[in-house]
Amino acid sequence: MKILVINCGSSSLKYQLIDSNTEEALASGICDRIGIDGELKYQPAGCEKNVTKVAIPNHEVAVKLLLEALTNEKNGVIKSLDEIQAVGHRVVHGGEKFSSSVIIDEEVLTQIEECVELAPIHNPSNIVGIKVIQNIMPGVPNVGVFDTAFHQTMPKKAYMYGLPLKYYDKYKIRRYGFHGTSHSFVSKRACEFCGLDPKNSKIIVCHLGGGASISAVLNGESIDTSMGLTPLEGMVMGTRCGNIDATIVEFLMSKENMTIEQVMDILNKKSGVLGITNGFSSDFRDLNDAAEAGDELADLAMEAFSYSAAKYIGGYIMSMHGVDAIVFTAGIGENDHIVRDKITSYFDYLGVEINPEVSKSRGKEVMLSTPDSKVKVCVIPTNEELAIARETVILVNNI
Ligand code: ADP
Repeated sequence: MKILVINCGSSSLKYQLIDSNTEEALASGICDRIGIDGELKYQPAGCEKNVTKVAIPNHEVAVKLLLEALTNEKNGVIKSLDEIQAVGHRVVHGGEKFSSSVIIDEEVLTQIEECVELAPIHNPSNIVGIKVIQNIMPGVPNVGVFDTAFHQTMPKKAYMYGLPLKYYDKYKIRRYGFHGTSHSFVSKRACEFCGLDPKNSKIIVCHLGGGASISAVLNGESIDTSMGLTPLEGMVMGTRCGNIDATIVEFLMSKENMTIEQVMDILNKKSGVLGITNGFSSDFRDLNDAAEAGDELADLAMEAFSYSAAKYIGGYIMSMHGVDAIVFTAGIGENDHIVRDKITSYFDYLGVEINPEVSKSRGKEVMLSTPDSKVKVCVIPTNEELAIARETVILVNNI
């Protein structure tokens, strides 16, 4: 089965066409700078990436362009759109309504629309992506895969904030957690890789990318995670502040004479390691190089990032009364051995031992810990697109 996977952001649309039999991507790419000017990146498997500057005023044009690229006579990977049997959509916020993926019908679309107030930046673009596909490819089933769904198994004590109950009752203000598709995919694969029984396992997944979150997965179910009502909560991230004292918002508004929108923009886009390095970079490759050259702020930013991750891991070891495996994934987790080493160094007291021969490994599945280590530590590359394609196949086969 050929499954188109779509991840709609406000100004970008990432896509992959996946053959579910081989689980290989036949082509992938991104429509970037939607509504600004426009750039189409298209890469058939095993070939060079094509980058075309082309006007992309809206998501409808973006979808048309990517479908044209996929069927293009010169370097398309399918002859006709009829070969696409289903489309899987990443949807950021499913609120409390969705604890698993669903076939999208009118009722589901209305429910996703009801979650917009919980994710005003993300959900509207996801909805646009779904509607555009419904228009252009009528009759092809659409499946919604939610970032929040995997964390719906959290117990109430983990998701309730210490706020007046009426705000949960009225507005459903609570912890939801994100990156669920990745945490689910990576924790399942980690069990296979580490030889653990999923129904009897204690896994901590560290999804360390531009956005970063950590989850505690007990017996295959998420029981806690670091992001909250929105992806702003949790550890120090690339440009997001993570946990701060809420009073800082009021303090900045009054001292700097800023509006709430300006403060929120700072907390989302100008904080994290970018903020700590005084605006130098949110990219850990830059931070690694600068720290090696003696830049103290770059080193401090990596220390603060790693320390905040270690505190979550420590907390989750306590939540699960132990841990079998600590798993790193996403851009930083898969590639940055300096950050991984900083984080794992906090767990020497648990008998964590890292094998120096593989500790610098990049971008591939690897056991980082020694055979004698009391806790397994490994890297499992995430593949959210493949996870979405798998969910889509399961649902479409059940229609
Ligand atoms: P997102 O999808 O949230 O943008 P990714 O999972 O792609 O995030 O991760 C992006 C981050 O991965 C970048 O901030 C970059 O710092 C980091 N990264 C990628 N490759 C490397 C590398 N070789 N060394 C260190 N960090 C890396």
